[in-house]
Amino acid sequence: MSVRVRFLGTGSSAGTPQVGCDCAVCRSDDPRNRRSRASILVEAEGVALLVDTGPDLRQQLLRENVRALTAVLYTHFHADHINGIDDLRAFNFLQKQVLDCYGDVRTGKELEERFRYCFLPPDPAWAKPSLRMHHLDGPREFGPLRVTPVPVLHGHLQIFGYRFNDVAYLTDLKRIPESSMALLQKLDILILDCLREEEHPTHINVTEAIALAKEIGARYTYFTHMTHDLGFASLAERLPEGMAPAYDGLQIRSAG
Ligand SMILES: [Zn+2]
Ligand SMILES: [Zn+2]
Ligand SMILES: [Zn+2]
Repeated sequence: MSVRVRFLGTGSSAGTPQVGCDCAVCRSDDPRNRRSRASILVEAEGVALLVDTGPDLRQQLLRENVRALTAVLYTHFHADHINGIDDLRAFNFLQKQVLDCYGDVRTGKELEERFRYCFLPPDPAWAKPSLRMHHLDGPREFGPLRVTPVPVLHGHLQIFGYRFNDVAYLTDLKRIPESSMALLQKLDILILDCLREEEHPTHINVTEAIALAKEIGARYTYFTHMTHDLGFASLAERLPEGMAPAYDGLQIRSAG
């Protein structure tokens, strides 16, 4: 079963271009250098899973003409991954039902605290988003997609990456524990954090991302969550065979 991934956003928390910046990447007219906040849509046979709801969610959904969601999966509770949560209300209108969201215990707690109004009993007119939070502590099937949470370390914070059949999405990480490396065997496609050139305490940089991609050994690796430090063309040129930067709007399919 081939898995389709659409990159809704491939940027870091600031997005690219960055407000007030005149660097070559921010001024570039290559559309692949315009990055909204990191998010993907994962699809197979009528099932559509959204990963994270960043502040650019509405524009991403419009751009990709997304009309239905099966569920939302959260990687963690940082603002660049959750602050577009209100735009999920569109799916309450379209689907006339409460939308199911999944994540780890801490993320569920943070979402229910910060966006309490989204988790109240459903409003018949859908005047507010109406969501149901579920804690994920192991693999779960959504139709043909087997979703496995992959715990990774984002600095000191343990968050979730996700595996979808033969595809894995690991954004915002500094280290992968041995127990999670075991969940990343025999991948067709890996989507991996690649923040910038310089080292960072809670993210991997280009050098670390290339090394980690080689260690995991997927057939193909796409990099995401990039800052304006990284221009698409110059990064693409120097990456090893089997690796490429992703860009907003890119669609890929796994071998299945
Ligand atoms: Zn810039
Ligand atoms: Zn983060
Ligand atoms: Zn982030």
